[in-house]
Amino acid sequence: MIDGKTGLLGVIGYPVKHSLSPTMHNAAIAHLNVNYVYLPLPVHPDALGAAIAGFGAIELEGFNVTIPHKQAILPYLVDVSDLARAVGAVNTVYRTDQGWMGTNTDVEGFLAPLRSQASALAGGTALVLGNGGAARAVVAGCSQLGLSKIQVVGRDPQKLEQFQNSWAGSSLAQGLEVYPWEQLPDLLHQAQLIVNTTPIGMHTDATASPLSVEDWDVVPEGAIAYDLIYVPRPTRFLQEAAARGLNTIDGTEMLVNQGAAALELWLGQAAPVNVMRQALLSALA
Ligand code: NAP
Repeated sequence: MIDGKTGLLGVIGYPVKHSLSPTMHNAAIAHLNVNYVYLPLPVHPDALGAAIAGFGAIELEGFNVTIPHKQAILPYLVDVSDLARAVGAVNTVYRTDQGWMGTNTDVEGFLAPLRSQASALAGGTALVLGNGGAARAVVAGCSQLGLSKIQVVGRDPQKLEQFQNSWAGSSLAQGLEVYPWEQLPDLLHQAQLIVNTTPIGMHTDATASPLSVEDWDVVPEGAIAYDLIYVPRPTRFLQEAAARGLNTIDGTEMLVNQGAAALELWLGQAAPVNVMRQALLSALA
C-alpha cells in the first residue's frame, strides 16, 4: 500500500520503458513488507540537472542510473565511491547529509555468482571479450576476485589502447593485458574464466557467438563461461560451453545482483535475491 510515508526510489534513464529494475525492486519491496515504491523515471538528457534538483526537492531516497546518464550524472554528485571512479560510471545514487553520493553496484553484480568459486579462480587468468562500458565493471570484479591476469580482447586497437591507459595507476586492474581480437585463439588455453561483454549472440542475432566451435577445443576443463547477455538465455556462447561440460553463468545473475546490492544500500537490510531473480525471470519469460 502506498501511503503518506512511502519512501521513493527509482531508475533514471532515457528511454527507461524497457527497464526490468522496477519489476525486480517492487517484488523485493513487497516481499520485505517495507514502505517503499520503486518507479521508472524517464529523464531526457537535456533535463538531467532539473531532474536531480527535483529529486532533492521531493526527497527521493535513492535511484539507479542507466543509459545515457551513467557518466553524465557525475557533476551532480557530491562524491563517488572509488569503485565508481575506477569504472568511470555510476549506476546507483543514495542520499547523504552532504548531497547525492554515487557508486557502482555492477561490479558486485558481476562478482556475486563467482564468489563461491573465488578460491579456485584466485591467481588464475580471466579472458574478457570486448572493451566497452560493461567490460570495465568486469575488469574491476576480476581484480577483486584475485585473478592474477586479466586479458581483455578487443577489435579496435585505438579503443583498446585507451581502455588500457584509462586504468593507469589503478589498483583495480592489476594484471590487465590487452590483445587484438585476432589473438583470441592463442589465449583460450589458459583461461579459467571467459566473459563475453560484447553484444555478440543477443536476440537480434542469437545464432552468433564470439567463439567458434573449434575455439572451445582448447578451453581448459573446469573453466567458467560467463555471458553478460540475458536475452536469449542461454546464448549460443553458453550453450556451446555447457555442451563441453563447462560451468556457465548468464547475464541475469549480474542484473539481479547489481539490483540487490543497490537495494541493500538504500534499505540497510539484506535484499531477497531469490525473489528478485524470480521476478526478473518471470518478466523475461
Ligand atoms: P558497449 O559499451 O557498447 O561495449 C560493447 C563492446 O563489445 C565494445 O568493446 C565493442 O567494440 C564490442 N563489440 C561489439 N560488437 C562486436 C563484434 N562484432 N566483435 C567484437 N567486438 C564487438 O556495451 P556495454 O554497455 O559494455 O554492454 C555490452 C553487453 O553487455 C550488452 O549485451 C549488454 O546488454 C550487456 N550488459 C549486461 C549487463 C547485465 O547486468 N547482465 C550489464 C551491462 C551490460 P567496439 O567498441 O569496437 O564497437
